Parts: sequence; structure tokens; C-alpha cells
Amino acid sequence: MSDLINSSLRELSAALAAKKVSAVELATLFLDRIDKFNRALNAFITTDRAKTLAQARNADEKLRVGADVTALTGIPLAHKDIFCTRGWRTTCGSKMLANFVSPYDANVVEKLAAAGMVTLGKLNMDEFAMGSSNETSYFGPVKNPWDVSCVPGGSSGGSAAAIAARLTPAATGTDTGGSIRQPAALCGLTGLKPTYGVVSRYGMIAFASSLDQGGPMAKSAEDCALLLNAMAGFDPRDSTSLERPGEDYSRDLEKPLAGLRIGLPQEFFGEGMDADVRAAVDVALTEYRKLGATTVEVRLPNSGLSVPAYYVIAPAEASSNLSRFDGVRYGHRAPEYADLAEMYSRSRAQGFGAEVKRRILIGTYVLSHGYYDAYYLQAQKIRRLIAADFVAAFKQCDVMMGPTSPSVAFAFGAKSADPVQMYLSDIYTISTNLAGLPGMSLPCGFGNNNMPVGLQIIGNWFGEAKMLNVAHQYQKATDWHTRMPGGVK
Ligand code: GLN
Repeated sequence: MSDLINSSLRELSAALAAKKVSAVELATLFLDRIDKFNRALNAFITTDRAKTLAQARNADEKLRVGADVTALTGIPLAHKDIFCTRGWRTTCGSKMLANFVSPYDANVVEKLAAAGMVTLGKLNMDEFAMGSSNETSYFGPVKNPWDVSCVPGGSSGGSAAAIAARLTPAATGTDTGGSIRQPAALCGLTGLKPTYGVVSRYGMIAFASSLDQGGPMAKSAEDCALLLNAMAGFDPRDSTSLERPGEDYSRDLEKPLAGLRIGLPQEFFGEGMDADVRAAVDVALTEYRKLGATTVEVRLPNSGLSVPAYYVIAPAEASSNLSRFDGVRYGHRAPEYADLAEMYSRSRAQGFGAEVKRRILIGTYVLSHGYYDAYYLQAQKIRRLIAADFVAAFKQCDVMMGPTSPSVAFAFGAKSADPVQMYLSDIYTISTNLAGLPGMSLPCGFGNNNMPVGLQIIGNWFGEAKMLNVAHQYQKATDWHTRMPGGVK
């Protein structure tokens, strides 16, 4: 059984089909590991053994009858606690929603359940997905399984830590400015943020609606392709969901890379990237050249403006989205207040943490009369220029590559006193969200203190299958994605 914790989703699927293991046994294996290791890692906010095993029995029944079986039936996964789950609480990492139980499932949750996947629980995250280190969660920080004195990245840090520690074979994540890719990089995993609109945001608690996108996190690109197949698709309940024909994201995995043109954005290889990260990325690029790819330098001249533009647009949208948390219908309500206005203000003052409040203040400011033109409108113009840079650069290449994060995982507290330093953690990931492009991170070696380094692949719009192909061919030639932290064996 113990080798199953390192198995790919395809291997798990084969083992289930051959009746070498049942869905109940598989779920029990991971639930037992959660019991054993979660106290130290704090990756899960909620688990419910009875609910998980009921889902697993259901999957076993489907497998027995042989009806309604997909490649994912009976395989366990866990959801970032930003996805609404009927019957399980959905906290979004906040005191505001600490006791909230959604009356419906998010589209992504519904789809993965329809594919027969078994939910292990809900994963810790930065409060309302605002953060890069998982230190803003009301439920306490998540520890990086590679070194528990270091952050796992954020905001999908619970997802990343849980997969790295083999507490789940796969997880969902969301990425507004880097929150799938950066924690994947810091924990040695593979994660994919799809093109904006490919995965429905219905039931995914909104942070910055024009940037938020859900996606898969797992050990390998092959696993991510299988998960994305089940997650993607048009949903009329999300007005920004795209109506496109279905795709098999695994279809190009085995294509050789001869002739692939990799663009290297000059702006991603300058100052700011740590030497250990640079060294690992350079070795990865050498491997790609061995696989038949060529590299070409490209320019993204406005990418230096991506972090400032993001920290106007994302807080602006957040301030609007989070206005619904007022203590009236659901969520935290202050126990004492004199009148309605005080009920709102006290409930929000008590329910939100410091980073969320900072974003609401910034967002309200940049949208206010007199500052709207100077900040919000300017940021939107920059956003357009950033997208135009990508259009021009993709004329010269098929995918782009660079580091996912400027450094390996850092120690708790190292950046929490300086929000700008923390915001720079996403310097290489944010521009793709602003442009709506797909991006991936995959492990490409180890840097300082033997911590994982992530290689970022940026695809063209709807280039998910291409990115997955490019990542999978590398993973066939290397074994970084198979490495497991020593402390959780
Ligand atoms: N770290 C970025 C932020 O705090 C991105 C977060 C995310 O992608 N959800 O806004």
C-alpha cells in the first residue's frame, strides 16, 4: 500500500480498475496520513472521515457495476477551502466564514465529484486568497513539508503542502496572481493556472473576479492534464465562462519537443532572481535544448509594471466583492452593536484579518471619486499594454519559460513586516493573470537549503495542452517531480 502514496493518478486508476485496491482503502490510506502528519503541517482545515468514506463506498459501487466510471473514479483529492462544498464548511481561511456551510457545491467540486473523485477535506489557505506565504490564514500558517520552518507559499499553501507530504494525491487551487504556481514551486509540485474563463468560477469565493482562475495541483503534468479534463468546461452560471468545444488536455503529452521554440523573457532573467533559482532554471533550459527545443530571447517591456497594476486592480475588485460580507445573511456577526451601521462595521472589523483590511482600504481608495482616473484607469491601461506585450512576444515562440518565484521557500516572518517584499513574490506570475494567459509551474531542482525550485511555463491563450506536453516531456527525462520530503516518509 505504501507505494500508492507516490503513484500517479493513472497508476491509481489502474490499481482501482484491477481491484488491487478499493476506493475505501485508498481514502483510508490518505486519511490515516492526514491524522498522522496534519498536526505538524496544518494543511487541512476540515476533514470528515464519515463523509469521505461514504463517497469512497459510492465510488467502489460504481467501479463494481462498471457504470459511470471515469479515469478518476475512486481517486481521492482535497479542495482549497475557497471552493464551496455542500455539507462541509467553507471558510476561505477567514474568521468571517469560520462556521459557514454552503448550501451548494462549486462547479469545480461538482465536476470532480461527477468524475467519481473522493473528497478528503478542505485545505488551508491565505485569508480570501490574499497572500504568498499562507501566513494570513485565520486558521494559522501552513508549514512547508520540506522544512517546517519555511512557508509553503500562498495562497494555495494548504493544497501544496498536502500534496508534497502525500496527504492527498491531488488538490484544487486558485490563482489570482500566482497562487497555484508559487506554492507549487515552493513545495516541489506541478500546478496549472488555465486561460481565464476555461474553469468556471461558480462557487469559488471571489477575490478579484477578472483575475481569479481555478486549476489543478498534483505531482506531475500528466496528473494535472487528467484533472483539468474533469474541471474545465462551459458553465452558464459563470458569466465569464467560455463556451468552447471540450478538449482532451492529455492529447499532446507524448509529442516530441523537436522544433519547440521557447521564449525567454529578458525581464524575467535580470536582477531580483536569486542565484540558486537561476542556476536550477538554467540547467532545466539545457535539458530542454537536449530534448530538441531552441530558445529565443523575447521582451515583455511592461512586465515591470505588473505588480503595481495588480495591486490596484486586485484590491479594487476585492473591495467590491468583499462588501457582501456584512454579517446580515451569513458569516460572522458581531455579538454586540447599537444599530445597523455598527453591526456592519463591527462584524467586518472582527471578521477580517489585517491583510484583507489593507486590500479593502486600498481598493476603496483607488475606486473613489478623484482617484479613479489616476489609479484604477491607469492600471487598466497598463493591463492592456501587458497583454499586448505577450501578443507580440508569442510571434517568436510557442511557450515562454522562466522562474516561477524569485526565491525558494523563505522562513516564517521573513516578509510579513514588509508587504511590498511579500508582493514581489509574485513578480513573475502576475503578468499572466493580468493578460488572462495560462501558466504552469513544475519542479526543476533544488536551491538553497535543499528547497525546491519551480520552472514556470507560460502558454499562449488556450495553450494548456501544449504547456502540459512541454512539461510532461521534461518530466519523462528528469525525476524532480518524484522527490518526496524526508520528514513525512
Ligand atoms: N500573492 C498574491 C496576492 O496576495 C496572489 C494571490 C493569489 O493568486 N490568490 O494577491
